[in-house]
Amino acid sequence: MRSRYAAYCVLNFQYIVDTYATSVRKEITLQDIEASAQGTRWTALNVVSSESSGTKGQVQFKAFYRLSSSFYVLHELSDFVKEGNRWFYSTGIIQEDSGELKVQRNSPCPCLSQLKYKRCCGK
Ligand SMILES: [Zn+2]
Repeated sequence: MRSRYAAYCVLNFQYIVDTYATSVRKEITLQDIEASAQGTRWTALNVVSSESSGTKGQVQFKAFYRLSSSFYVLHELSDFVKEGNRWFYSTGIIQEDSGELKVQRNSPCPCLSQLKYKRCCGK
């Protein structure tokens, strides 16, 4: 999960494709991943919870990103499956509070830097 986020940050889309579970990977193309990530700059990842039992795992996370000058959050509940010794992404349910963030100049920066927005990304 964290490694997939890191791969998005450095635009390593092949890794994203390769870490899809076998059952869904055939429906995923490198071009799709590239197109969906166009112009997106990821700023922070917050893993809300994660649990696993046997070969099934679930991760709830909030990933923050910028697109042009706006901030967004992707809040997702993701399912992972274990194949061999590795976890692979299967599906994700995007939560309703995902979307554009309204950021005040004096509020904490959504990149989770712990600085005020005006002293961080809002400069
Ligand atoms: Zn910031």
